[in-house]
Amino acid sequence: MTATTTKPTTLTTQEVPQRRLLVTEIPGPESRRLMARKSTAVAAGVATTMPVFAARAGGGIVVDVDGNQLVDLGSGIAVTTVGASAPRVVAAVQEQVAAFTHTCFMVTPYEGYVAVAEALNRLTPGDHAKRTALFNSGAEAVENAVKVARSHTGRQAVAVFDHAYHGRTNLTMAMTARNMPYKHGFGPFASEVYRAPLSYPFRDGGTDGVVAALRAIDVIEKQVGATNLAAVVIEPIQGEGGFIEPATGFLPTIATWCRDNGVVFIADEVQTGFARTGDWFACDREGVVPDLIVTAKGIAGGLPLSAVTGRAEIMDAAHAGGLGGTYGGNPLACAAALAAIETIEAEGLVQRARDIETLMLDRLRRIEARDARVGDVRGRGAMIAVELVQAGTDVPNPELTKAVAAAAHRQGVIVLTCGTYGNVLRFLPPLSISDKLLHVALDVLDTIFEAPR
Ligand code: PMP
Repeated sequence: MTATTTKPTTLTTQEVPQRRLLVTEIPGPESRRLMARKSTAVAAGVATTMPVFAARAGGGIVVDVDGNQLVDLGSGIAVTTVGASAPRVVAAVQEQVAAFTHTCFMVTPYEGYVAVAEALNRLTPGDHAKRTALFNSGAEAVENAVKVARSHTGRQAVAVFDHAYHGRTNLTMAMTARNMPYKHGFGPFASEVYRAPLSYPFRDGGTDGVVAALRAIDVIEKQVGATNLAAVVIEPIQGEGGFIEPATGFLPTIATWCRDNGVVFIADEVQTGFARTGDWFACDREGVVPDLIVTAKGIAGGLPLSAVTGRAEIMDAAHAGGLGGTYGGNPLACAAALAAIETIEAEGLVQRARDIETLMLDRLRRIEARDARVGDVRGRGAMIAVELVQAGTDVPNPELTKAVAAAAHRQGVIVLTCGTYGNVLRFLPPLSISDKLLHVALDVLDTIFEAPR
């Protein structure tokens, strides 16, 4: 099976040089050639953040096909938390791939799946009896969490929030807030999905978290009715919506209301899970214990895996054969997950995320202090955002956001954007990045904000 390696490891990968290096313009000639092939072979709807093709990656660097070494502040959208070629993950997958690639857990099961379930039951918030089911993508896991909640409650309605992102499948498109680019032209969407107002401290005048939660609960009670509601699904810190951290008290108030009304409280920790926010899970910070927690992305060091973990009596409500899928909990992905979890524990990566937070917030707040176009600097752990506005106002500035990201890309720093208004720069470095590389990337951002406008 999928025993993880005991080989000694280091935070950074030896084979990938840990230094920013530009040997061509960005994109270089080889990336341009590949982009031309992409445009004639790959569906236009599958867009890329950068017109640059990867050759190798590890530590805090992505090496492109032209030999440029880019500083990675994206982790493939919060996936390669332990690094893109973490030694334990690489070794565990190599061992597993040589043993067997697939049997289907629903046909002849294997230990790795069970071991991942045990690890998730141990690590996720709460010490109640838990069960886990494994899937492939974040969206697939969110869908299954809703299936489980409906099966348990016998109710149908699902409440989600403004600015939410839960995926691109039909149900999760309905649950996702933003039309462009996620939903436009792709309807009709699944029914029985209702949206409640969020706590968004930068844009709601710093409304108290409990007050904001009561406002959301009022909308749900008036427009849906608690007895019709199977689940509330919420990202404890919103990802694609703009790295929005609700004010203190918001999450616990919603969770308590759910418990009092027999509603399943589902935390979508697809983006925030696995040490990303400086805790194992973002819910940990306020001691919120979700009934079900959905995880993916950082769970398996880059291999496709997702999970729903939760209270045994809720998870076991679905009938035998009601949950599953051909590839869910693939043995390679399970081997990778066990190795990624071992890496987070052995390398102290939860603390590493907190150290990255301190370093990044300090540097970014210095930019904020001198530049009125920086409306807000926020985030936890290695999930940090800068919300850009028209100088001195709160009017979103997506043009500047795009321009800053493009300038960073040209200078060999991978940054991503997000936000309902497209005006948030977001930073999701792998926890395997060095302080030195973080400073190199922040120096680049410094000079971009200094540049004449
Ligand atoms: N939920 C959240 C909070 C996410 O951030 C994402 C991905 N960005 C998803 C769900 C969907 O995950 P996937 O792309 O793996 O389907």
